[in-house]
Amino acid sequence: MGTHAQIDIKNLTLPELTELLTGLGKEKFRARQIVKWIYARGITSFDEMTDLSKVLRDELKQRFFISDWLPEIVETSTDGTRKYLYRLNDLETVEAVRIPMDGGKDTLCISTQVGCAMRCQFCLTGTFGLTRNLEAAEIVNQVCASLKDGPLHNIVLMGMGEPLHNLNNVIKALEILYLDEGCGYGARRVTLSTSGLVPQMYELA
Ligand code: SF4
Repeated sequence: MGTHAQIDIKNLTLPELTELLTGLGKEKFRARQIVKWIYARGITSFDEMTDLSKVLRDELKQRFFISDWLPEIVETSTDGTRKYLYRLNDLETVEAVRIPMDGGKDTLCISTQVGCAMRCQFCLTGTFGLTRNLEAAEIVNQVCASLKDGPLHNIVLMGMGEPLHNLNNVIKALEILYLDEGCGYGARRVTLSTSGLVPQMYELA
């Protein structure tokens, strides 16, 4: 975990990281290199980014950290479905579920909020109310952590929370997940499920 002054690099989209780095006098393409290390190769330390100079790596370490999640609990069902429970920095918890599919094309169902304000009648989460929104990094880290158990074919935002009720962070997380040089999921492999927040649906579109 980083110190207070450091930024979790997983909270930044590629344009945001590019802007920050160019503001520090670095070349524009550095951001793409870094994103590739983190999301395409699963690297969690700047020291392993061997195509960056030692000076740049040290500078990055001073300003940023790379959050890296391990589940606190993993429950595996007889059908191979895996439920991961993650403990957040403020000790709240969030869940993601990995569903095995034919041909090894696993799907991961991820959460976007701690709790949920929507109170859909059929849903247990709704009865607890909303605790807080997840940050973009906290949405993306559910994917990064599950990738350690093998590739994922699809991502669905159908876990805890109403994605459109946390629109800014969800859009940032989708930008990161879509990136060709990063996770590379593209829009067709990510499904967003909503309880029907119509104005936000227009904004997202
Ligand atoms: S939006 Fe989803 S998480 Fe929220 S109460 Fe409805 S079904 Fe449950």
